Amino acid sequence: MLIYFNMEDGQTSITTPVELQASPAGMQASPKIVKRAEPDIWWKGFLKRIFFVEILKGMSLTMSYMFKKPVTRQYPKEKRESQPGFRGMHALVRKPLTRRARCVGCGLCAAVCPSKCITIYTSEGKTHEKVVDRYEIEILRCLFCGLCVEACPFQAIVLTGHYEYADASKASFRLTKEMLMDNWDKYMTEETGIINPARNGKYYFNNFWAPRKNHFETSANQAVFKGKKAQ
Ligand code: SF4
Ligand code: SF4
Repeated sequence: MLIYFNMEDGQTSITTPVELQASPAGMQASPKIVKRAEPDIWWKGFLKRIFFVEILKGMSLTMSYMFKKPVTRQYPKEKRESQPGFRGMHALVRKPLTRRARCVGCGLCAAVCPSKCITIYTSEGKTHEKVVDRYEIEILRCLFCGLCVEACPFQAIVLTGHYEYADASKASFRLTKEMLMDNWDKYMTEETGIINPARNGKYYFNNFWAPRKNHFETSANQAVFKGKKAQ
């Protein structure tokens, strides 16, 4: 039902909707006036408004949730442990005996990094070995793709399960070699007592590190070129 108000004479008029139906031939549309039955339910809406039915419905729904177990996690009081394989903050692996970094400064991780956020500074040692003076990762540029881990031939860098590193200081997002080795101690060693296997160095390497030694073994059926033997 449509109600029109005439601005000139102040009269109101009520009209019924008009439906256009196509002629049987489908060529020309002929107007046909359809009078719809006026539903006699105006008083229902009126009663609903009087007795605040919709508000009471909403309140009852809210009240019903007051007696159910809450699903909201009270972070940061209730922390969520990361799942195995989660790609969190980096760590440089320590050798268990010497406690020094396994990294030899080959630079493969920096070369493969798509966001170029790894910087390695090396120098020559006393016995002409390569010494890693500085190893830095700008973590805010990192994509956490894990390519640095995959590329490292010495299992020297890992992504830990640690994800809480929000900070107001810019310097804390430039991870130095020392910070990265501390991350190994804190998040990836069994001495931490953390039960979650995602934060265990051995578990990490056994499950997620690749390529592994057996990936390079020659299968028994594979033809191998052995070259000519010297006479
Ligand atoms: S996870 Fe990816 S983006 Fe981040 S440092 Fe490693 S290679 Fe670079
Ligand atoms: S972390 Fe691995 S790939 Fe990167 S420089 Fe060290 S040894 Fe090479």
